Amino acid sequence: MPSRSRSAGNTQSKSARVEPTLDDYVAGVRASDRAILARAITLTESRKAEHQKKAEAMLLRLLPDCGKAHRVGISGVPGVGKSTFIDALGTQLTRAGHRVAVLAVDPTSNRTGGSILGDKTRMERLSRDDAAFIRPSPTSGTLGGVTRRTREAIHICEAAGFDIILVETVGVGQSEVAVSEMVDFFLVLAIAGAGDELQGIKRGILELADMIAVNKADGDNMDRATRAASDYANAMHLITPAGAIWEPPVVTCSGLKGLGLDALWEKVVDHRGRLTASGDLAVKRREQMLRWMWTLVEDRLISELRTDRKIASAIGRLETDVLNGKVTPSIAADRIIDAFEKRNSGS
Ligand code: GDP
Repeated sequence: MPSRSRSAGNTQSKSARVEPTLDDYVAGVRASDRAILARAITLTESRKAEHQKKAEAMLLRLLPDCGKAHRVGISGVPGVGKSTFIDALGTQLTRAGHRVAVLAVDPTSNRTGGSILGDKTRMERLSRDDAAFIRPSPTSGTLGGVTRRTREAIHICEAAGFDIILVETVGVGQSEVAVSEMVDFFLVLAIAGAGDELQGIKRGILELADMIAVNKADGDNMDRATRAASDYANAMHLITPAGAIWEPPVVTCSGLKGLGLDALWEKVVDHRGRLTASGDLAVKRREQMLRWMWTLVEDRLISELRTDRKIASAIGRLETDVLNGKVTPSIAADRIIDAFEKRNSGS
C-alpha cells in the first residue's frame, strides 16, 4: 500500500482513517499529539499480529524516552473515592506544572462486560485538563494481558512527556499485586469502618502499600477517619521490618474537599527522594523490567497453548481428567508440555 504523505492527512478527521506509519507514531508520541498517543496505546492493545509487531518496534524506538516519570499506583475498593481523589490530586498536580497521565487497570472489565472503573463519568475536571491524559482499562484479555498493555501504556505516556503517571486499580482480585509491580509507589485508599476494626481493605494489601490514606476524612466522618488511621498505623508498624528505609505512613485526606492532598503528595515525593538517594529506585525499576519480561514469556506461552486447536482440546480433556481424579496434575502438566514440544518440533 502506498504510504500517504503526511501533509495529505493533516486534519484530524482525515488522518484518523489512515493507519499512521511507524515514524508517525514515534514522532506523534514524542510530540505528545493526543490523537496519536491514544492510537499508539490502542495499537499495543490490538491482537492482530501486524499491529503487535508494529507496537513492539514503536516501543523499542521510544525506549530511550521512557523511565523518567514518577509512577504511582492507587488502589482501593469500589466506592472508596478513587476517581474523586484522582480528579482532585491530578488537578492539583497539573496546576503545579506537572503533566499527569491516568491509566486504569480493571480486570473485571472483560468478565462483566462493564468495568468497575469505567461505567460512570469519572474525573470530570481532569478529563478537561490539557495537561492530563486519561486512559481507561483495556477491555479484554486476562489480567496478564491487561497489565502488559498498561505497562506499555506507561512507557508510551513517559515518551510523550508525562512526568507523573497514576495507575488506578480496583481493590479486588490480583490487580493490586500486578500494579504494585509496575509502579514506584503504591498508595492504598481506605475508609473508616463502622467500628474500630480495619475495614474496607484486605489485610494482604497492607504489605504492598507504601502509604495508606484514609479517605473521606471530612465533615462528620473526621473523627472516625482519624481513629481508623491510627488503627492502620498500628497495623503497618507491625508488618514493617525494623530498619526499613521507608516506613509506610498513614494519613487522612478528603478527595471531595481537597483536604490533606498536599501533605500526602509531599510524602510520595519524599519517598522518591529517599529511594533515589539509596539506589533502591533504580534496583526496583530494573527488577520490574525483568519481571515484565517474564510476564510476557508466561503470557505468550500460555496463549500459544490455548490458541493451538489440538493442544487446546487436549487441555480440555486433561482438565476434566484432573477434576475427576483420573490423572494427577503433574502427569497432566507433562502431557500438555509434551504436546507443545511435539507441535514445535513438527513445525
Ligand atoms: P471509586 O469507586 O473508588 O472511584 O469512588 P468515587 O470517587 O466514585 O466515590 C464514591 C462515592 O463517594 C461518591 O458518591 C463520592 O461523591 C463519594 N466520595 C468520594 N470522595 C469523597 C470524600 O473525600 N468525602 C466524602 N464525604 N465523600 C466522597
